[in-house]
Amino acid sequence: MIVAEPKSLDEIKAMTDKYDRILMVGCGTCTTVCLTGGEREVKLMATALRLARKVEGREIEVGEQTILRQCDFEYIDELKDVDSYQAIVSLACGAGIQGVARSFPEKPVLPGVNTQFIGFNEEFGYYTEQCKACGDCILHLTGGICPIARCAKGLLNGPCGGTNNGKCEISKDKDCAWVLIYNALEKQGNIEQFKQIITPKDFAKAGNIRSMDLRKAGD
Ligand code: SF4
Ligand code: SF4
Repeated sequence: MIVAEPKSLDEIKAMTDKYDRILMVGCGTCTTVCLTGGEREVKLMATALRLARKVEGREIEVGEQTILRQCDFEYIDELKDVDSYQAIVSLACGAGIQGVARSFPEKPVLPGVNTQFIGFNEEFGYYTEQCKACGDCILHLTGGICPIARCAKGLLNGPCGGTNNGKCEISKDKDCAWVLIYNALEKQGNIEQFKQIITPKDFAKAGNIRSMDLRKAGD
C-alpha cells in the first residue's frame, strides 16, 4: 500500500483561502487503510475547515465524496457535480491527486496529504516502509527483505560497522536490515547466498518519468 500523512488544517486552510466552494475527495484504498484520506478523514477535515472559516467570520461550502481509488480513471468518473465547486482537495496519494487533476483540467486540485512511502500496515496506526520502487528487484537475493528501503544506507552487501545487537546505528528502535536478511537466509537454508556479492544496482531504472507499456505484450 501507499502510505501518506495528512497535511495540517492550517496548510489546507491556506490552500483553500481564495475559494468558498470546494469538493473534498477521499480515496477508499491506501489512504483509507493508513487513516489519512478515507470517508472518515474527509468528514473530519471538511468539518474542521468549515469551523475554521466560521471562526474567521466567513463561510465555506465543502462537498464530501469518497471513491474506491483515485489512481484509476474508472472510479474518478464516479465523482459527481464537480462543476459546482471552485476547487478540489484530494486526500489520495500523489498518483490519485494527479489522476483527479488530469480528469478535471479546469479545476485546481489541491493535495490534502503528503505521500510518504510504499509499505505495510503493521498494526492499527503503525506503518513501515518496505519498498522504494527501484525498478530492479533483488528480494530473491536478500531473503525477501529489501536493503534499499530498510537499510538506512541502502547497502547491498552486508551490514556496515554501525550495526549493534541487531539494531541500526541510526536508532535503537530500527532493526538492522542486514541482520534481518542474514536471519531470513539462515531460516530458508540459504545462508550461502549471504556470501555472494550483489553487483551494483542499475539505479537508472529508478529514474524519472517512468512508465510501463504492456500493450504489445501479446504480439
Ligand atoms: S529491491 Fe527495489 S523493487 Fe525490490 S523491494 Fe527493494 S526497492 Fe522495492
Ligand atoms: S546498521 Fe544495518 S541497517 Fe543500519 S545502516 Fe548499517 S547496515 Fe544499514
